[in-house]
Amino acid sequence: AKIQEERLAYLRDERRIKAVMVVFSDLEGRLHMLDYDKKFLVNSYDNLTFDGSSIRGFTAQRESDLRLAIDWAAFYWTPADVFGAGKVLVFGEVIDKNGEHYAGDLRGVLKNYAKEQFDKNGYHLNAANEIEGFLFEGIDAERSFHELGSFEYVNKGGYYHSLPGDPLREFIDTTAEVQRAMGFENEKDHPEVAPSQFEINYTYGDVVMAADQIQLYKLICRQVATQMGMTASFLPKPVTGVNGSGMHTNVSITKDKTNLMWDPNGEEKTSKFGWEFVDRILTVGSDLCVVLNASVNAYRRLDPHFEAPNQIKASATDRGSMVRIPIGNAKSARVEVRSVGPDANPYMVLYTIFKTGLDGEIAKIENLRQAERYLPDNIYTALEDFNKSEWVTTILGGDVKQRYSDLKQASADRCPRLLGTIVKPCEIQFHHDVY
Ligand code: GLN
Ligand code: MG
Ligand code: MG
Ligand code: MG
Repeated sequence: AKIQEERLAYLRDERRIKAVMVVFSDLEGRLHMLDYDKKFLVNSYDNLTFDGSSIRGFTAQRESDLRLAIDWAAFYWTPADVFGAGKVLVFGEVIDKNGEHYAGDLRGVLKNYAKEQFDKNGYHLNAANEIEGFLFEGIDAERSFHELGSFEYVNKGGYYHSLPGDPLREFIDTTAEVQRAMGFENEKDHPEVAPSQFEINYTYGDVVMAADQIQLYKLICRQVATQMGMTASFLPKPVTGVNGSGMHTNVSITKDKTNLMWDPNGEEKTSKFGWEFVDRILTVGSDLCVVLNASVNAYRRLDPHFEAPNQIKASATDRGSMVRIPIGNAKSARVEVRSVGPDANPYMVLYTIFKTGLDGEIAKIENLRQAERYLPDNIYTALEDFNKSEWVTTILGGDVKQRYSDLKQASADRCPRLLGTIVKPCEIQFHHDVY
């Protein structure tokens, strides 16, 4: 409430600000934004309504009117040269008619869960995501792919290699600068393994903020790329024969400033608590697959020859494993879930990982961490596993589960042939509206 008063006072007094972008995400993780006139918002922030039936995945609800509340803690200044003058951005929360977080808004679900874990156990849930993407020539390259049949790289450099004046370097530098201006704590950025591929890393943080920052990262990349006459694409596998793009999701839990994943005497310096967290995820690896790999195209990425996992395993070194334990120390010890695509709903991804890691069951499979079990290699199989999973029903609720499944089924059905390694134009064509 204090932060609300402060932000409202700031908005009232700061004459340079004209409008407030309120953003929220639909069930598939697509970011929606409403620009409110500042004066209107300051007077009416507690009574913002919108028609939920026009938001994908929110439609099944019988009453279509939903309310939008403001999460005043998730407030960002946006650089004028990238977002237009006189604006700030704040995350909205979708509220149902009973005044509760709406179940189809996974941000609210994640936030409730993080609060529950703090209240019950004193846990802080932390996440850091490594978001890879490609920079392609031309605005809207994803839409024009089906006419051109291919993407055009902007540079031919390799891993960690770039020269001044290179468009990829210019893009990375500009994006990193916008991130800093918006309050991200940047760490490192570099061209990735594939030509024209990038990754811009920033520090870990509270799980809701981390998910918000994934949405902002992609938004910033798209804005900057568009201004350069290019496209930032978060398709998991836009080009065959080279690495795809992942969104490795690093998670840790702290209590009283102690990292519960760390144990200097544990296996791979990971605590019993940390390994149990991993085992619970491995137990339902297939069930969660379509949450983490949410598009037809995502399944083409899951190939160990390109550093992306296809096995439901945990390992310190093997990048073909769904879960990896990176080397770390008391502060940085964490679990890395590698089988996540950058086009997944980040709120749903982080919620399912933490909820499963903390509250799931551990299968009685011999040698669970090394047993030969594979992730689904296409979205139809992943959907079958998702649909029949009782655990998914428990954590998402039957209604949200069904609606998510229906959306993914529909997107899969738009691509008639799934087998083989060719990236089908239909996948690309329909992708731009489901990020
Ligand atoms: N691009 C790889 C993936 O799809 C990761 C490569 C890396 O970060 N070294 O997950
Ligand atoms: Mg990385
Ligand atoms: Mg990487
Ligand atoms: Mg990684």
